[in-house]
Amino acid sequence: MKILKNEALAPFTTVKIGGPAQTLIITDTTQEFTKALQKTASTDIFILGNGSNILISDQGIPATVIKNNSQNIEYLDSSLIKVDSGVQLPWLINDTVNHSLSGLEEFAYIPSSIGGAIYGNIHGVNKSNFDKFVRKITVFNKKTQTVEELDSQSMSWDYDFSEFKEKPHLIILSALLQLTPGNKNLSQQQVKDIIAKKILSQSMNSLGSTFKNPPGDAAGRIIDQELNLKGYRIGDAQISPKHANFILNLGQATATDYKAVIDHVIQTAKTKLNLTLEPEIIFWGQF
Ligand SMILES: Cc1cc2nc3c(=O)[nH]c(=O)nc-3n(C[C@H](O)[C@H](O)[C@H](O)COP(=O)(O)OP(=O)(O)OC[C@H]3O[C@@H](n4cnc5c(N)ncnc54)[C@H](O)[C@@H]3O)c2cc1C
Repeated sequence: MKILKNEALAPFTTVKIGGPAQTLIITDTTQEFTKALQKTASTDIFILGNGSNILISDQGIPATVIKNNSQNIEYLDSSLIKVDSGVQLPWLINDTVNHSLSGLEEFAYIPSSIGGAIYGNIHGVNKSNFDKFVRKITVFNKKTQTVEELDSQSMSWDYDFSEFKEKPHLIILSALLQLTPGNKNLSQQQVKDIIAKKILSQSMNSLGSTFKNPPGDAAGRIIDQELNLKGYRIGDAQISPKHANFILNLGQATATDYKAVIDHVIQTAKTKLNLTLEPEIIFWGQF
């Protein structure tokens, strides 16, 4: 376990934006992660997965941030796997496909950790939400300071929603995922096809889709066709010319620039269309 003081968080995010954490604890195993959680149980803490969905303030986080790098994947029977929350989703997809297990292919190209995927209940290209594959979740309960196992079927899930968003005292340690035996070659091809398609429009120097899709429509289409904001730029933060729901860091963007672009989109949608666009990304720190 590494404990660092006043450490910049930008390198731990896909968009490379964010000031320092007062304390950054980096843990490499679930045991270390649990220990760090026990030590910090009574204080305000932030859990960092792969940093692909959070905009961290330029002022940083005046608290403890735990970066969870736990990496264990266990194959329990022909289709049930136990995965640490720090496992990188692209790595898990590759590994399960190599074990001829099918299910996760549709989440290819999402730079998430498993903890982040469960927390945000990510959605794949075939419109499945991640909870479809989750059976049990082991959590650390910061209120009781105990490790608990939750049955995913007794929890509420929705598009972009998990109960964890309303229960920040529950920290995801690991999960049991149910996949199906499949055909390795077919799955590999499916993953390749999805990546080949997404790479044309989705850039990693972003936080993914910035806004939730309004019912029956796509935020990207609205920002592009109705608001004409593709390519709109403040400092080095730019609405992607290739995908209007992605905001890019062209190099030196600050959180302030990035947030200013978001605010401009929200304001323009309100003024032009009387539409309220809601951010899908999460804000950490002061804005
Ligand atoms: C290029 C690109 C493409 C993307 N495509 C998609 C897509 O197709 N579909 C989609 O849904 N999303 C997509 N995203 C968004 C993003 O990858 C997901 O939201 C992802 O699940 C975030 O996971 P993370 O590990 O990066 O979490 P972080 O950004 O690190 O954290 C997000 C939230 O999860 C919480 N969290 C993380 N780990 C834990 C844990 N162990 N216990 C409790 N809370 C935890 C954090 O505290 C934070 O509140 C994309 C992003 C990019 C950059």
